Amino acid sequence: MADTETSETYLIVGAGFAGAKAAEGLRNEGFDGRVVLLGAEPEVPYERPPLSKDYLRGESPREDTHVHPDGFYEEHRIELRTSEEVTGIDTDARQVELAGGERLDWDRLLIATGAEPRLLDLPGSDLEGVNYLRDLADSDRLAAGLERGGRWVVIGAGWIGAEVAASARQKGLEVEIVERAKVPLEHVLGTEVGEIYAAIHRDHGVVLHTEAALEAFEGDGRVERVRLGDGRTIDCDLVVVGIGVTPRVALAEAAGIEVDNGILTDERLETSVPGVFAAGDVANAFHPFYDRRLRVEHWANAPRHGEIAGRTMLGKPADDDRLPYFFSDQYDVGMEYSGFATEWDEVVFRGDPAGGEFIAFWLSGGLVVAGMNVNVWDVADPIAELIRSRRPIAAAKLRDPDIALGDLLETEG
Ligand SMILES: Cc1cc2nc3c(=O)[nH]c(=O)nc-3n(C[C@H](O)[C@H](O)[C@H](O)COP(=O)(O)OP(=O)(O)OC[C@H]3O[C@@H](n4cnc5c(N)ncnc54)[C@H](O)[C@@H]3O)c2cc1C
Repeated sequence: MADTETSETYLIVGAGFAGAKAAEGLRNEGFDGRVVLLGAEPEVPYERPPLSKDYLRGESPREDTHVHPDGFYEEHRIELRTSEEVTGIDTDARQVELAGGERLDWDRLLIATGAEPRLLDLPGSDLEGVNYLRDLADSDRLAAGLERGGRWVVIGAGWIGAEVAASARQKGLEVEIVERAKVPLEHVLGTEVGEIYAAIHRDHGVVLHTEAALEAFEGDGRVERVRLGDGRTIDCDLVVVGIGVTPRVALAEAAGIEVDNGILTDERLETSVPGVFAAGDVANAFHPFYDRRLRVEHWANAPRHGEIAGRTMLGKPADDDRLPYFFSDQYDVGMEYSGFATEWDEVVFRGDPAGGEFIAFWLSGGLVVAGMNVNVWDVADPIAELIRSRRPIAAAKLRDPDIALGDLLETEG
C-alpha cells in the first residue's frame, strides 16, 4: 500500500540525523500527510562526525555536514522549522508546546532529541575557555581556538576527546590529555586495544596523563591551568571536556513516557505511549539480534532508526536487525567497529597492531562478539557475518592472514 492517511500530521521533535532520516523515511514509505520537523538549533539537520575532524580543522565546508541537499525539505513537503524548541508534550491532547507558547497537534510523534554532553561540576568549571563539543556552534568556537594556537588540555580520552586531541595536534598545537582510566577508550575497547591508541597519541606528541584525578580549573575569568589531584598543574590556553553524553529525556519523562537510560522502546521504536516513537541517541531500543534493549550513541544508528521509524510510524514492521557500527578517524588512523561487547575472554589480532594495519576480534565463549578494523578496509561486512553466525571460530584461524575473512565460517566444523 502506498499513500497513507493523507490528513494526518506526523511530528518529529529533534531535527538531527535521526529526525531528518525519519522524515525522509516517511516520504519514502509513501506517507502523504503532513510531516513537521522541529529543531531547537538554528541549523538545517546536519551530521556531527566532521565537527571533531575535518570541519573542526577547517578542511571541509559547513554544507558537507548537511544531511540533505538544499531544497530537499521543500521538495518533499517536510515542514522543517529550525530554532523551535519543544518545551512540552501532551500525550492526552496529542499536542506539543513550543517555547513561544504555540501548540501543534500530532497524530503520531517521534522524539529524536539526541544526547547532550555530560557536564563537569568542579571548581572553575564555568571559567571562560572550558568547552564542550556537541554542535556546530561549539565546533566553530573550537576552530577559532585552534587558529589562536597554544596548549590545549583535553579532559577525557573517549572518542570525542581523542579526536579533538588528534585534530589539535594536526593543527600544530600542544595537547595534553587528562584521563581517569588506565588507557584511552578503555571502557569500549579494553586495556589491550586502548594501549594501542595511547601509543598512537604519544607518537604524535600528545602528553597523556592517565589514571589522573581532575581537581580544578584555575584562572582569572578565563582558564589558565588545570589542577590534578596529585598537585600537578598543566598550563593551558583552552580546555575541551569530553566525558560522555546523556540522552535528552527530560521532555519524555515529563510527559510520563517510560525512561531508563534513554526512552524505552520496543523493536518498532514505539515507546510506552502508543503512537509515540523514539529514535537515535535518545532511544533505548529493543534490538532483535541481542534480544535486549541497547542505547547506541553512534552515527550509523541514527539513520537506521530513522528508516525504521519511517516504516513503523505507518504501522509497518521494523524489519531491521543491523548490528551496531561506528567509526573514528584520528591522525592517519581510521577504524570501524562492528558489534557490541561489554565483556570478553580474549582479544585476538589479525595483522600487526604496531604496524598500524590490523583487525581486532573480541571473543566471548569462543564466539566473535565484536570486531574492529584499523586501516584495513572493506571488511566490516564479513566481520558482521562472523558475529551474526554465533559460531565458534578458533583464535588461530582468526589470526591467520592466509584464511580470507569470508572463508572463516566455511573452514569451521
Ligand atoms: C563531535 C562529534 C563527533 C562524532 N563523531 C562520530 C563518529 O566519528 N562516529 C560515530 O559513529 N558517531 C560519532 N558521533 C555521534 C553521532 O554524531 C550521534 O550518534 C548522532 O548525532 C545521533 O543523532 P541523533 O539525531 O540521535 O541526535 P543529535 O545529533 O543529538 O540530534 C538531536 C537534535 O535534537 C534537537 N533537540 C533536542 N531537544 C529538542 C527540543 N526540545 N526541541 C527541538 N529540538 C530539540 C537538538 O538540538 C539536536 O539538533 C559524534 C558526535 C559528536 C558530537
